[in-house]
Amino acid sequence: MKKTIRDIDVSGKRVFVRVDYNVPMNAELKIMDDTRIVSTLPTINYLVEHGARVILCSHLGRPNGQVDPKLSLRPVLARLSKLMDRPISFAEDVTDKSTLEMVNSMHDGDILMLENIRFYKEEEKNTESFAKKLANLADIFVLEAFATAHRKHASTYGIAQYIPAVCGFLVEEELRMFDKVLTSPEHPFVAILGGAKVSDKLPVIENLLDKVDTILIGGGMAYTFIKAIGGNVGMSIVDNSKLDLAKEIYERAKEKGVKIILPIDNIGAKEFSEDAESKLFNSGFISDDYQGMDIGPKTIKTFKKEIKKAKTIVWNGPVGVYEYEKFKRGTNKIAKYVAKSKAISVIGGGDSVAAIQSLGYAKKVTHLSTGGGASLMLLQGKKLPCVEMIEDI
Ligand code: AMP
Repeated sequence: MKKTIRDIDVSGKRVFVRVDYNVPMNAELKIMDDTRIVSTLPTINYLVEHGARVILCSHLGRPNGQVDPKLSLRPVLARLSKLMDRPISFAEDVTDKSTLEMVNSMHDGDILMLENIRFYKEEEKNTESFAKKLANLADIFVLEAFATAHRKHASTYGIAQYIPAVCGFLVEEELRMFDKVLTSPEHPFVAILGGAKVSDKLPVIENLLDKVDTILIGGGMAYTFIKAIGGNVGMSIVDNSKLDLAKEIYERAKEKGVKIILPIDNIGAKEFSEDAESKLFNSGFISDDYQGMDIGPKTIKTFKKEIKKAKTIVWNGPVGVYEYEKFKRGTNKIAKYVAKSKAISVIGGGDSVAAIQSLGYAKKVTHLSTGGGASLMLLQGKKLPCVEMIEDI
């Protein structure tokens, strides 16, 4: 268990809170979804109520170390100020001495937001001098940016070398949920894996083999497995460099008594496009001029049965090209069955979370992770470097 803001005295202290306010915005710079802002409110409110001087730091988009007015955090400042119904000050340039002056003139309970930290190339490079400069602004570091906790940047990792570091409530909850399902799951434990990047997902399967009862595999990654065991996948996406490993993992799962269920049927398309001509194929028999784009109805039925039996569910990755209307049926059905299930359900990965949210099921699942890359790393059995900087209780 890592130390949290509950475990230290924050009263009168300058507290640097690294949040992840990388929110989606439209061309008019309107925030399209403020979930990431709202999810940090319990931590900010706690700190304010306990007399801390709160310095909020985040990145937005990929400015690559350059100032880009379109990626300013000012719209986020306005939204947070509205949500909290109070003024929040703003520091334009963290490297300018005026920022330190602003910080040092803060009163207990005040809040200050820093401009987009990725306007400085030193952030992603995690240079020592930049990390020290950030640390100089504060007495305590709070990691609240779960979605960035796998990246060793100055404001997520470097700063924690110089001042005491603790978790915020959002990071605490993310760690608690992943720990719960990965170390003491109720059985049957069913993992649903999809998406396209086989190299990301194979380590997840390897890590889960000792924990789960069943793994349902869909999405583009399924075709590497199907090809590895001798099926014809046509033009489907395949990682040819992982065929041997996929076959080996498939065999290992059998030996361990873990059921790996691959698609039984697939919706194939003549090309990778929204309105491509499509056809249903049995797995292993996709014709040479088609590619698998979604799981078929028999697969959906089989996956449904397994999801219904589960007491613990982890889902990472869409089971088809859900961005296209024509190929989102499988992913939407899986989202529905997971939402209906009474199991403890943890959804990690941007796409599966987006699918659950777009269907209005967010409140029906146990935990929707705010971090794609970070949750993948935990599912792979790895530690998050920024979390490792925090002392254990
Ligand atoms: P990942 O980042 O590995 O979780 O992959 C997510 C992406 O996988 C999404 O953009 C999906 O469109 C894509 N995907 C899912 N199923 C397939 C498929 N059958 N063929 C190609 N891409 C797919």
